[in-house]
Amino acid sequence: MSLNKKTIEDVDITGKKVFVRCDFNVPLDKDLNITDDTRIIKALPTIKYLLKNNAKVILASHLGRPKGEKKEEFSLKPVAKRLSELLDMPVQMADDVIGDKVSNMANKLDDGQVMLLENVRFYKEETDNDPEFAKKLANLADLYVNDAFGTAHRAHASTEGITHYLPAVCGYLIQNEIEKIDGVISNPQRPFTAIIGGKKVSSKIAVLINLLDKVDNLIIGGGMAFTFFKSMGYEIGESICEEDKLDIAKEILDKAKEKNVNLLLPIDNVVAVSFDENTEYKIVDSDKIPKDMMGMDIGPKTVENFKNVIRESKTVIWNGPMGVFEFSNFAKGTNAIAEILAENDVVSIIGGGDSVAAVSQLGLADKMTHVSTGGGASLELMEGKELPGIVALEDK
Ligand code: ADP
Ligand code: MG
Repeated sequence: MSLNKKTIEDVDITGKKVFVRCDFNVPLDKDLNITDDTRIIKALPTIKYLLKNNAKVILASHLGRPKGEKKEEFSLKPVAKRLSELLDMPVQMADDVIGDKVSNMANKLDDGQVMLLENVRFYKEETDNDPEFAKKLANLADLYVNDAFGTAHRAHASTEGITHYLPAVCGYLIQNEIEKIDGVISNPQRPFTAIIGGKKVSSKIAVLINLLDKVDNLIIGGGMAFTFFKSMGYEIGESICEEDKLDIAKEILDKAKEKNVNLLLPIDNVVAVSFDENTEYKIVDSDKIPKDMMGMDIGPKTVENFKNVIRESKTVIWNGPMGVFEFSNFAKGTNAIAEILAENDVVSIIGGGDSVAAVSQLGLADKMTHVSTGGGASLELMEGKELPGIVALEDK
């Protein structure tokens, strides 16, 4: 999918009421304090542009999974507070999503003022993509802007339904995500390498298959490597494995050969006696995994091998950690990949909730070309899928 969609710069916004779907799904602690405001910060360029150009801005988002009920712990009030600090201006907080009171508030906005609706998922009609609900949202405004990349792969009322009733364009965050992820996948500088890891083959089959047609090198690590090893007849001990995916693993290995893709699996692994932080571990070659141990991370020889491929690459996309990086003993492989990407002069695109978390924890996010804000949405882009929240926007 390339970005042939209209953006906020392609439409007249002065004096217009603009409904902006953001992704303000921020983590809150038990006192309802925001523990990470990255998502709010990422939404600022679009909001600031609209305000600067004298739009009347109506912001909407979901937060958590309130499942159609109005619950205080899922209120967007903490977001309004943080946003008003970041914008250095008042952000009026609505106490609902739709209804007369909310419409009145929207109608009273002056040019350059901003309000925030309550959590759109306080109505189950949101995730049901209910047309009547979508119409009510649309009635609040003159123009729709989608800037919620994290939910762009969902056809919900505030991401898709609403576009049937209003002119609809995308904001800077979505524009940037599509240009970076899709731009790189469809037109990479070569050699082009994909690093795919994480827990399960099943969640990454579509991405592996799509990338086989595009990459020069395909690096496979993490828990999913063991399903590949098993399909090759190796002993994998107690390692995580999806028995029903052995055939597809074999097929991917065959296809890689057919398409001349250099597919790399780990040559050694860090194996442990049990799945916990302080368990005993050792390093063994991939064909020597003991029956009573499990693979937890890629080994040092593998790290060197993967590093060499990355050093020779001009473009790398990465989705999925190389090991159980949540435990420090088994984070070395994932950290080494993040560090080599950060050090090298390579176009580096990171997608996937856990891989992004790993990179961020190391403080290396700024050293990458692009770190995606949407786990599921970035995975679907890497799969070559069209995202319903983006397809629905107006073509250029
Ligand atoms: P992402 O969110 O980046 O797409 P995934 O959700 O697919 O990544 O996978 C991340 C999870 O995979 C992490 O919780 C990590 O602990 C787990 N994982 C990685 N390697 C292994 C392994 N060898 N055994 C078990 N789990 C693993
Ligand atoms: Mg994940």
